[in-house]
Parts: sequence; C-alpha cells; structure tokens
Amino acid sequence: MENYERAAISPISVSTPPFSYTPSSSSPPSQQSSPLLPPPLPPPTTILSPCAACKILRRRCVEKCVLAPYFPPTEPYKFTIAHRVFGASNIIKFLQELPESQRADAVSSMVYEANARIRDPVYGCTGAICQLLKQVSELQAQLAKAQAELVTMQCQQADLIAVICMARESFSQQQQFTDDTTSFLNETALDSAWELPL
Ligand SMILES: [Zn+2]
Repeated sequence: MENYERAAISPISVSTPPFSYTPSSSSPPSQQSSPLLPPPLPPPTTILSPCAACKILRRRCVEKCVLAPYFPPTEPYKFTIAHRVFGASNIIKFLQELPESQRADAVSSMVYEANARIRDPVYGCTGAICQLLKQVSELQAQLAKAQAELVTMQCQQADLIAVICMARESFSQQQQFTDDTTSFLNETALDSAWELPL
C-alpha cells in the first residue's frame, strides 16, 4: 500500500532520492499508464503461480493472500495436511489473529500437529507429549538415583581417606621411633668405637 502511494507520489516530488533508488521506482511509468486502462484492477494483483493453498482450494491467489508466504506451490502437502485437520478457514483465521512475525512458526506447528493427528487419530500430538513426559520422569528418577550413589561414594571415599591418613600417621610415628632407636644405637656404637684404645 505505502509503496504504491510513494511510487505514485515520487514522480511529482523529486526530492526523495532514497526512494527513487528502490526497485519499485521502475514501476511508476507503467502505473502512470494504468489510469488510462479500464477500472478493474484485480487482474494485475493476481500472482502468476498461485500458492499451494489457493491451488488446492481452487481460488484466485491475490497479492495479499495470507496463506501465500507460508504455503509455497513447491510444498503442496503442507497445506493438504493442515487443511485436512484444521480447515482452510480456521488456518486463515488463526493467521489473521497473529502478528506477521509469528505466522511462520504458527504454520509450522499447525502442520506438525496435523501430521501427528493423522498418524495418531486418538492422541495426536498429545501421544508424543505424554511419551516425552514419561521419558523425562524416568530420566529424572535415574538422575536422582545416580546422585544418591554419588553421595554414598563420596562418603566412602572420605572414610577411606581418613583411614589412609591415620595409617600413614601411625606408620610415620613408628618409623620415627625406629629411626631414633637406630641412631641412638649407632651413636652408642660410635662412642664406644672412639673410646677404644689405640
Ligand atoms: Zn494464495
């Protein structure tokens, strides 16, 4: 809309160089000639290749087609699946209620949900969610068990270290005693050697 307005204004006000550089600036000459043509404007707004949605719905794909950006003609199965589960009018309604920045994600999730529903008509996405929740709780239980084992092992390690320290201490005390005894004996032996008459 705005681009068209700007394009229509730009030939009159030449003092807007940034806009005159945009590709849309090449269209004003053709648009200037359009007022000469009869009023019915819809034909020029029709996209040459209709989007997958419009092709399947057998309707004309207009330039502002809400579905066109998300259902390209190269991926028709996406719309077929989503349409089968949600219905075209609901898809359009959902998209119109969302800001454009979130529409692509909404379409992806709708296609995913529709796929799941077709695969599993009873539980659909819920089946996958429940399975994952079960897996999460199983893994959490495993983690808690492993953490408990780790604490036990850490306690055992601390006990073992205490035992080793005690053993080492008593060993070094014993060693000290032996050393003292040996040096005492040696000293006595030396003294007695000195005392020996020449
Ligand atoms: Zn379309």
